[in-house]
Amino acid sequence: MFNKDVKIKPFDNKLWLASPTMHGDELRYMQEAYETNWMSTVGANINEIERITCEKIGCGDAVALSSGTAALHLAVKLAGERLYGQPAAGRGTLEGRRVFCSDMTFDATVNPVAYEGGELVFIDTEYDTWNMDPAALEKAFEIYPEVRLVVFAHLYGTPAKIDKIRAICDRHGALIVEDAAESLGASYKGKQTGAFGDYNAISFNGNKIITGSSGGMLLTDDKDAANKARKWSTQSREDADWYQHEELGYNYRMSNVIAGVVRGQYPHLEEHIAAKKAIYERYREGLRDLPLQMNPLDGENSEPNYWLSCAIVDKEAMCRQVRGEKDALYTPEKGKSCPTEILEAISLLNAEGRPIWKPMHMQPIYRMNAFITANGNGRARSNAYIEETGLTDVGTDIFERGLCLPSDNKMTEEQQNAIIEIIHMCFE
Ligand SMILES: *Cc1c(COP(=O)(O)O)cnc(C)c1O
Repeated sequence: MFNKDVKIKPFDNKLWLASPTMHGDELRYMQEAYETNWMSTVGANINEIERITCEKIGCGDAVALSSGTAALHLAVKLAGERLYGQPAAGRGTLEGRRVFCSDMTFDATVNPVAYEGGELVFIDTEYDTWNMDPAALEKAFEIYPEVRLVVFAHLYGTPAKIDKIRAICDRHGALIVEDAAESLGASYKGKQTGAFGDYNAISFNGNKIITGSSGGMLLTDDKDAANKARKWSTQSREDADWYQHEELGYNYRMSNVIAGVVRGQYPHLEEHIAAKKAIYERYREGLRDLPLQMNPLDGENSEPNYWLSCAIVDKEAMCRQVRGEKDALYTPEKGKSCPTEILEAISLLNAEGRPIWKPMHMQPIYRMNAFITANGNGRARSNAYIEETGLTDVGTDIFERGLCLPSDNKMTEEQQNAIIEIIHMCFE
């Protein structure tokens, strides 16, 4: 437990979880857009970052968009249209269709399925990578064999068990939408994340490994699909003298100014990953003697991008913690701690940590949706069962015991040592 009587000296400037790290070239490319007056959604910066992305990730085509969420929306829509055809205006491509989705992730991974009218079925998480559990996915296909689309993310920069997920999807004739928003630059068996699914997304949001201040990209090997997404993203204008529309359109294209920021960031991607890796390793070393584990890396198959350093408190070292819908309580206990207490202590340093993504099946908005674990229906468990076995599901467990640590590239070793020290104080 953390002794609240101890005086803590906060950092002068707030240390963020992950904030943009600029280098100078970003400004040069933005300036170039300004000086040549390519200030809209067309221009050299856009063309160049689409090219660089294809080269880096090894995908056939990349479409620069206003956000990762927009990229995921168009990815899901492309999949829906390929599977079920073009719907009437006002209807989604997935209406009435079940889609298997990651459960423990940011809601941006899964919301696009709802935009398209699909019925989200959440698949539990596994401990090895904190991503979609292939065993639970297999179980879900047993229960709903008609499903033809799977949407999954690579959380915190650690690739999922892609081979297993791909093999299951192939066996069931299902398409994949891969959310690589957090894992740009991470690879699995030598291939970059974002290159495995049929239609995939990356993000240049302000807190990601590189940023455009905002922005995202749709990635695919299918040139026709990419061109279709480009058309959708600029309001679906037909090649005519007036505004002619045969399909529903969106205003999703990236600005050439934003693309200038991304262009200036790309050469620093590897350097950012190296900084994140050093942060992760210092935490691992500094927290080694405590009853907690770092987030998994699956070093055997993958090279993560170490976007966020996270920790999970050992079961035996958890003090009692109860979370309501919007706040949390805990009971301090000697020698033990919990994410709520650790996050409170970190905030005393004027630093930002964060809970793990709250699983989607626990979210009020998705409370009626199916949720499948490796043993079947994750909603069917009574409180008595949970009490008796100590088992809920993996996602709930990681959410209860896990937290994201400050992982900003610009964090000094001194600051990181202060965070490591205050986490030690939580277990006194
Ligand atoms: C950030 C993020 C997104 C969305 O990206 P935006 O560019 O913010 O829209 C999607 N999925 C995951 C897992 C993310 O972390």
